[in-house]
Amino acid sequence: MTDKVQYGLDNMKHHANSKLVPPGSDGFTFGRHVFTRPGVSQSLINHEAVHVAQYAQNGIPKFLAVYLCDFLKNLVKYRNFDKAYRNIRYEKEAYDIT
Ligand SMILES: [Zn+2]
Repeated sequence: MTDKVQYGLDNMKHHANSKLVPPGSDGFTFGRHVFTRPGVSQSLINHEAVHVAQYAQNGIPKFLAVYLCDFLKNLVKYRNFDKAYRNIRYEKEAYDIT
């Protein structure tokens, strides 16, 4: 397990069965808080743990600004929602690690 996954797992506050998870998604992370649907895989939790580490490394404002800018730039570039999301630098790192 990488340091980022371990750091995230050690520091995350996991809100399982959260009603805040939007339709079409299994979970999301804000700061050290991870919100998931019931019964999600350990692989998804590890993915979200990487985001906890990224938030800690960059701070919430920078993480959100970079995330949104990358997504919008990728949307213009690829004109495809899923490709735009998958190519956000923080998502690429999280998918590469987990
Ligand atoms: Zn992600």
